[in-house]
Amino acid sequence: MTGASTAALFALLIVMGALTGAVAGSFAGVVRSRGWRGALRGRSHCLGCHRTLHWYELVPVASYALQGGRCRACRAEIGREALVVEMVGAAAGAVVALGLVSLVVLAG
Ligand SMILES: [Zn+2]
Repeated sequence: MTGASTAALFALLIVMGALTGAVAGSFAGVVRSRGWRGALRGRSHCLGCHRTLHWYELVPVASYALQGGRCRACRAEIGREALVVEMVGAAAGAVVALGLVSLVVLAG
C-alpha cells in the first residue's frame, strides 16, 4: 500500500471508531433515561408531543445539529445532555480507534 492510501485507511478507521462510539454513547444515554428494559423495548419518542421518532431523527449528533436541538413537530427542546453523551462517545471511540491504529503501526 502507498503511504497515502494507508493514511486514508487509518483516517477511515478513526472515523468509524468515532461513529461507533457516538452510537454507543447514544444508546448509553437511552439506557440512562429509560433503563435497560426501556432501551431494548419500544421506539424512541419525543418527550414533548410523544410522537415516535423516525430513523433520521435518531442519528447521533447529526440529527441534533440539523434540527437545532428541537423536535421537528412540536419544537420541544431535546436535552443537551443527549448531545454531550453522543459527543463523548464519539471522542472515546476515536481515541480507541487511534490507539488500535497506533498499535498496528508500531507492530508493523
Ligand atoms: Zn415533539
